[in-house]
Amino acid sequence: MNKAPISEIFSSIQGEGIFVGVPQIFIRFSGCNLGKCAFCDEPARRKSSKGIQEIITLIKQLSKKTRPHSISLTGGEPLLYPQFLKTLSKKLKEKGFLIYLETNGTLPENLSLVKKYTDFIAMDIKLPSSTRLRSYFIKHKKFLKIASNKKVFVKVVVTKKTNFSCFKKAIGLVKAINREIPFVIQPATKIGMVGGPDKEKILLFQSYALKFLKDIRVIPQMHKKLGVR
Ligand code: SF4
Repeated sequence: MNKAPISEIFSSIQGEGIFVGVPQIFIRFSGCNLGKCAFCDEPARRKSSKGIQEIITLIKQLSKKTRPHSISLTGGEPLLYPQFLKTLSKKLKEKGFLIYLETNGTLPENLSLVKKYTDFIAMDIKLPSSTRLRSYFIKHKKFLKIASNKKVFVKVVVTKKTNFSCFKKAIGLVKAINREIPFVIQPATKIGMVGGPDKEKILLFQSYALKFLKDIRVIPQMHKKLGVR
């Protein structure tokens, strides 16, 4: 695959998870295998197919202005294009960049293909009561096992509708693999009718998680708070 659909490439700060605040260059891939989570904020931008050399040239130009911590491969779902990702990540690493993969954590076989060329993995566990989609726990378990010897953290988005049994399942899944994997509870940013839970519910989730996992953090989407991309 020489080209992949990409909606935008830009410099900004990481707004989610344990690397919140670091400068990054983002490559946003178009398309997602999950359809549409209830809280999905993937911007509807014009997508265009880009080749690897074109992307590398753009990244080099952008990196002259900022000193990126890493290159974020985001989406949509970047692992929809594993061969492309593998070649792109390998070439970016040869140029000295670190690779930060943001993924919905449902394509374990594709992760196996690119894992060698990623430095950080930000993996979502999609709670069906948050997404209003079907459950992906079996795929998530397989995915996290493969990711677990890299620098990985897990993120769950929680909304007003997130139920406790669903949340418990995610905690159990991570605990069974490695209790030290950082686990981020991300209250959803309000989009239409979907909003984050009240603080009592967030604290209840956090106190439950703290019984089983070592590193629990509650982090909202900081880029949304700052009004940046
Ligand atoms: S996995 Fe991510 S990109 Fe895909 S629908 Fe859900 S929130 Fe949107």
